[in-house]
Amino acid sequence: MIKKPKIFLTRELPPESMRILSEASELTFNQEDRVLSKQEIIRGVRDADGLLCLLTDSIDEEILEAAPNLKVVANFAVGFNNIDVAAATRRRIPVTNTPGVLTDSTADMAWALLMDAARRLSEGDRLVRTRQWTGWGPLQLLGADITGATLGIIGLGRIGQALARRARGFEMRVCYWNRTRLSEQEERELGVQYCSMDTLLGESDFLSLHVALNDETHHLIGASELGRMKPNAILINTARGPILDEAALVEALKTGVIAAAGLDVYEREPILERELYDLENVVLAPHLGSATIGTRTKMGNMAVENCLLACQGQRPINLVNGEVYE
Ligand code: NAP
Repeated sequence: MIKKPKIFLTRELPPESMRILSEASELTFNQEDRVLSKQEIIRGVRDADGLLCLLTDSIDEEILEAAPNLKVVANFAVGFNNIDVAAATRRRIPVTNTPGVLTDSTADMAWALLMDAARRLSEGDRLVRTRQWTGWGPLQLLGADITGATLGIIGLGRIGQALARRARGFEMRVCYWNRTRLSEQEERELGVQYCSMDTLLGESDFLSLHVALNDETHHLIGASELGRMKPNAILINTARGPILDEAALVEALKTGVIAAAGLDVYEREPILERELYDLENVVLAPHLGSATIGTRTKMGNMAVENCLLACQGQRPINLVNGEVYE
């Protein structure tokens, strides 16, 4: 009989993924609904062949060092900024992610935040719930027009492009900045126009962030960039918190440098910059970008497949560090 690989999973996944994983492996997993400490992960990976982890787990050199048999780090997320990929590559450990399956749900969340912030929906909800609403008023909670406005997208990868497609239905002008410019044909098909960062900051009514987090994109948007935006502008971040300087954003929202923001991600989750909690002109979502039943199931199955393939000595499908197989 073929020996099943030993897999350590840091938190329970959707039922279908759990079923596949428990049938195909000798599974140990965190049965409590909480993030594990580093020491707990170290204990868990000691004799593991595969580590299946989440974006809330920081997988560093010390953890990899503690796992001499480790054949894969499979992340349940498309972003992999929580893993020291260079350290894994040095040890020839493949790292995998879950691209594509969460593109639409995350673009939907960016769009939901954009609409909420523009139309002051959460503010209105609070007004009604606190029994402070005294009836319709011609000047009450006036928001921003979406149809015909300019949407700026920073990072036109999978999710950025899915957002551009959503904007079409609202007859928006869509401009983008990306490290790598798309081909003319791709731009035409998507209906997007390439801009310099300066132009994008200066012309966008809505600006949405979709770059991956790494050393180069940390605080890509700070006080100086916010200062170049329009006073009516609304900033959306569903990418990763540290791409945006949260303290600078609070200042910009307080002083009217920009009009509003919609956030799904934060610099030090689950803690937010203190004053954010009390600002009316910001919509705060608790990192829900990929949180649909369908998406999370697909992410789980994808992460499980990657993990099992690598444990069986095969090349996983969604490899982040292909160099390990060269
Ligand atoms: P993707 O297709 O790989 O796109 C990544 C984008 O980041 C590309 O535009 C890429 O530019 C850009 N980028 C990467 N490194 C860069 C650098 N050093 N400087 C400038 N730009 C850089 O990824 P995706 O599937 O669209 O996902 C994007 C991000 O969304 C993920 O990394 C993740 O952090 C976040 N996310 C959040 C949620 C949520 O729950 N809120 C859910 C899913 C994803 P190039 O085209 O030049 O490579």
